[in-house]
Amino acid sequence: MRKPFVAGNWKMNLAGTEAEALARSVVAGVKGVEGVEIGICPTFVALERVAAVVSGTNVGLGGQNMHWEADGAFTGEISASMLLTSGCRYVILGHSERRTFFGETDETVNKRLKAAQVADLTPIVCVGETLQERESDVTEKVVKTQVVGAFKGVSEADASSAVVAYEPVWAIGTGLTATPGQAEAVHAFIRQTLTDLYTPAAADAVRIQYGGSVKPENAVELFGQSNIDGGLIGGAALKADSFAAIIKAAV
Ligand code: PEP
Repeated sequence: MRKPFVAGNWKMNLAGTEAEALARSVVAGVKGVEGVEIGICPTFVALERVAAVVSGTNVGLGGQNMHWEADGAFTGEISASMLLTSGCRYVILGHSERRTFFGETDETVNKRLKAAQVADLTPIVCVGETLQERESDVTEKVVKTQVVGAFKGVSEADASSAVVAYEPVWAIGTGLTATPGQAEAVHAFIRQTLTDLYTPAAADAVRIQYGGSVKPENAVELFGQSNIDGGLIGGAALKADSFAAIIKAAV
């Protein structure tokens, strides 16, 4: 059985004492909760402060992006080992905001994925279609291209330990959510794509999170779908009570 995994993507919000305060409230809100893996992904500059707050708790830490090179002249970038040194266990890769605003491609997601796995960071690989792509009936084609591109040359063992987040772009931060049926159909398709790339056992091991305007009110039904293994949460992860309620919905 796959253990559900709920991660909060804080995006470019909260640093310093504000980030610490939210992390403290999250830790308090999920104290003693078992049966679900929990992660929070603050902005880079807050990682070390938040790491001190979550250390020894059931909440893990993640970065929101990373570069594939180990070090060097890459101004503004962060490496896998820097994330590890800052206390991270996870890293979000290929988020649609990075694809849209920062030129992220399937090829660069693939490089980041391989570098994360060498470093023993659990990658959360984001995929998803735009509204125009959904309306043009090319959702499966788009998602398949993203999954195949991200996992190109990745071993079966590494693929099994990766996490995929299906995040329809039209549902991120918009208040629109895929219906549980729409989400489940794409999750099942992603798992089939991984089966075709690897084996049924490997595909079965991969956790596939849903992301896109998840709230306490819709989480139970979404997480109740057989191929939805938790969520990647944006806006609702900035409120400790909402995030805790979503996490409990995944148990
Ligand atoms: C996200 O950015 O990963 C996300 C799912 O955002 P939101 O929950 O705000 O739609």
